Amino acid sequence: MREYEKNIRKVEPYVPGEQPQNKVIKLNTNENPYPPSPKVAKALKEMEADRLRLYPDPTCGPLTEALADFYHVKPNQVFVGVGSDDVLAMCFLTFFNSRKPIFFPDITYSFYKVWAELYRIPYECQKLDENFRIVKEDYYKENGGIIFPNPNAPTSIYEKLEVVEDILCNNQEVIVIIDEAYVDFAGRSAMELIDRYENLIVVQTFSKARSMAGMRIGYAISNPRLIKYLNDAKYSFNSYTMNQAALICGVEAVKDREYFEESLHKIINTRQWAKGRFEELGFRCLDSRANFVFVTHPKYDAKELFEALKENGIYVRYWGSERIEQYLRITIGTREEMEALFEFLVKYMGEF
Ligand SMILES: *Cc1c(COP(=O)(O)O)cnc(C)c1O
Repeated sequence: MREYEKNIRKVEPYVPGEQPQNKVIKLNTNENPYPPSPKVAKALKEMEADRLRLYPDPTCGPLTEALADFYHVKPNQVFVGVGSDDVLAMCFLTFFNSRKPIFFPDITYSFYKVWAELYRIPYECQKLDENFRIVKEDYYKENGGIIFPNPNAPTSIYEKLEVVEDILCNNQEVIVIIDEAYVDFAGRSAMELIDRYENLIVVQTFSKARSMAGMRIGYAISNPRLIKYLNDAKYSFNSYTMNQAALICGVEAVKDREYFEESLHKIINTRQWAKGRFEELGFRCLDSRANFVFVTHPKYDAKELFEALKENGIYVRYWGSERIEQYLRITIGTREEMEALFEFLVKYMGEF
């Protein structure tokens, strides 16, 4: 073995869901089945290629202001990045530097563990209970920081704001990050607590509710002090994270509140209907507050079903990891896509 091998940062990378480039029913990575606001399409069309000669605004001014406006905070309380993955990675780098372990649930977004290992941050997973709920008292032990998604992924379960607040209340000496990738489909955001807890960071994304996974925009909302620390880290890494198209389209998407809410309602309605259909077919479907469901069937093996679906051009997500070997995560698509899914499931079950 060469000497340099010892000095290479070796990591086991995050494995994203498949992105098939042919036409399939794609219910595997929680994208929105509806297009972004028509105002985004218009802005893209009108964008001048000549503008690309110049560097984009490193402060992401108009986008930061549009988000501040939308959430009734000040622009210096907003940090934007290349998807919330970039924002979260920057948060790990900036805020999780204790020798004590950071805490996150055992079943959660698998990227947390990857960042912890990449940055050599000690971590300790806290077990969700048998109903996949967070046990808040587990987070009262000494730790170096806390992060969890609300709603959680892939479980789809939303914890009430009171639970989030109890965890914050008992952890005022560390940074607590709430990853709200799916909160628009759920209920109250922890943003309400920002003025009361100076250690709270709320992270959201344009990838799910705003139909812009391909544009890569995410953001953190907190108090000006923590946002400054994040910006200092960002400027020490790459000043121009956000490209010009993302900056322009992001503003248009945020401003179109009406379209955003309409698209949310369509997905929530389809989710409620789909949940009923899954249950009619004998699935156990957790109480989803996200744009996906987490389901299991007492009679059909999840892995076999996952493979049969894929062979028939319907992509869903399967992990096969501990405690969730018999579960599938299925994104809520359009009503038509979900009907095609159920048509296949009825046929599949009839053949067994
Ligand atoms: C989708 C997702 C993200 C990342 O989304 P981006 O596309 O990087 O904004 C972050 N956290 C959770 C829990 C997610 O499901």
